[in-house]
Amino acid sequence: MNAPRPPTAEGQLEFLRSLQRLLDEGSFTSSYKFALLHAIADLCLVKGEDSGAELELSTADIAEQFVRLYWPQAIPYPAGNDAGILHQNTGRQALVVRELAEYHNRYQGSLVELERSRSDWDNLRRRVEQTVRKMPLWKLQTVGSERLEFLYENVDRGGSVRLQSGVAYCFRVFYPLVTDVIEGAWSHFVQRLNPQLLGQIVDLRSFLFGSQRTSLAAYRPLLRAVQRGRCFYCESDIKSRGDVDHFIPWRRYSLDLGHNFVLAHRGCNSSKSDLLAAEEHLERWTERNRTCRDELEAGFEEGRVLHDWRATRQIARWAYGQVQRAGGQVWVQANELRHLSGDWRRILSAAGDEAA
Ligand SMILES: [Zn+2]
Repeated sequence: MNAPRPPTAEGQLEFLRSLQRLLDEGSFTSSYKFALLHAIADLCLVKGEDSGAELELSTADIAEQFVRLYWPQAIPYPAGNDAGILHQNTGRQALVVRELAEYHNRYQGSLVELERSRSDWDNLRRRVEQTVRKMPLWKLQTVGSERLEFLYENVDRGGSVRLQSGVAYCFRVFYPLVTDVIEGAWSHFVQRLNPQLLGQIVDLRSFLFGSQRTSLAAYRPLLRAVQRGRCFYCESDIKSRGDVDHFIPWRRYSLDLGHNFVLAHRGCNSSKSDLLAAEEHLERWTERNRTCRDELEAGFEEGRVLHDWRATRQIARWAYGQVQRAGGQVWVQANELRHLSGDWRRILSAAGDEAA
């Protein structure tokens, strides 16, 4: 067998065309197909690589990603007395949403608590997995009477699907674009099913998929302690409250996992903006997460914050790889930008060895 190769430019264009056809022409009776596409894109970042190789994804992992996507959506919207949970199905409310709503109540909205419970968590994940395997998995790639099998073969492999070669590559390269399109289409679908919300598409979207403005204040005391009151980027004292910043910018990937947060001066945070931080910052970030690992994780547990250092690192590797390939620049300080040296590979690999 030949070594895997990244798809050609024409192959990548074909991927985008097919994806667009699927969203334009596919029939959607529930939002599951959007969730499935989003889940596959997410898993390509955490599990895939840039070689162009095939990628096997388990339906259990897809189900877990489903739960993460639907979790914030399984509460009434808009907040208020007679608000209900948004319909995500043309008929009766989507099963996954109904089940999640029940767990939402039982665990007061805390996904971390639910995951800790083991038996409830395993139960829920198994049931969602059944739904994924029964409903969207084999229907996703059908438009009208036509089959459009460009992602994976419609073959039940007993708990997994195998993404064709080049697919994980394309999802990784086009991740921001692809998820933006999926979230937009998903939001419009939900709006159509919930006509009472007419005209609220902007708010609706940030309700469904979160927003960078989500309050991160809860992280502040923990980060202040771990960073000894200093700004993560310039390392001088923070005299005011300081901003909680997504180290891997939220605009690139909405990574709300604990290790991704740092405390910074408002000025440092706003000049970094949506840029990736330079490699010296990356080194300090992996160092902080390594040396303060116990303190951070105890704090995350206490504050019911999701955290997964391995997945966080995988996403960092993806983000730096993308910028390197595109010849983009990273943020050093104030208005100073520069190109990557490639040292990020060593930094992130070293961080991986430590955690093993
Ligand atoms: Zn600073």
